[in-house]
Amino acid sequence: MSIREEILTLRSALPDPVKLVAVSKTYPPEAIREAYEAGQRIFGESRVQELSAKHEALPGDIEWHLIGALQTNKVKYIAPFVSLIHSGDSARLLEEINKQALRCNRVIDVLLEVHVAQEESKHGWSEPELREYLGSGAWKELSGVRLRGVMGVATYTEDEAVVRAEFLRLHELFISLPREYGLGAAFDTLSMGMSGDYELAIACGSNMVRVGSLIFGQRNYK
Ligand SMILES: *Cc1c(COP(=O)(O)O)cnc(C)c1O
Repeated sequence: MSIREEILTLRSALPDPVKLVAVSKTYPPEAIREAYEAGQRIFGESRVQELSAKHEALPGDIEWHLIGALQTNKVKYIAPFVSLIHSGDSARLLEEINKQALRCNRVIDVLLEVHVAQEESKHGWSEPELREYLGSGAWKELSGVRLRGVMGVATYTEDEAVVRAEFLRLHELFISLPREYGLGAAFDTLSMGMSGDYELAIACGSNMVRVGSLIFGQRNYK
């Protein structure tokens, strides 16, 4: 199928509240334009430099999401335009996003990335660290950051039971954290599910899926 057909097929298969982030990392601007012309407006990138270059080159009504690990010294490059940062994984990073947001007179939407996978290499807060941070109330001082929800990446495995358990844990946190810490009505997004597991993620409560290779074809690096 063409990119256009993949987008249309996928969108019609997604239940209404589920947003599709088309993960365009490594693919050229022409591929993004084809998805754009099929009506797609939300695109996700992993790397700051690539995100900035594509933002410059492509239509202004695209919502750009940063889905990959973010170094504090690079926040300033995306703060003026980024719509959602999925990888809010430390107090230090949230503080820097806040600083750069205020500098641009913006409030930046951020998800709390939680580490649920078995692989050490994956990013995100451990549950105790996250609870300690939320309990400290430090996030309430960050007027340039709006915490919008939870993001996670499941273990890369064929074992569906493992993936399901991780998605259910993310869902449980998504439901319980706002009640326990008073995160408010804006905390409405649960970003989980990729090309290989987005259907399972939706069955476990995801309302934002990040799908790349299924739309754009195989890529050489993650
Ligand atoms: C690359 C990536 C995706 C998309 O992966 P696909 O398997 O190509 O759909 C989703 N989320 C994150 C965090 C990624 O890095």
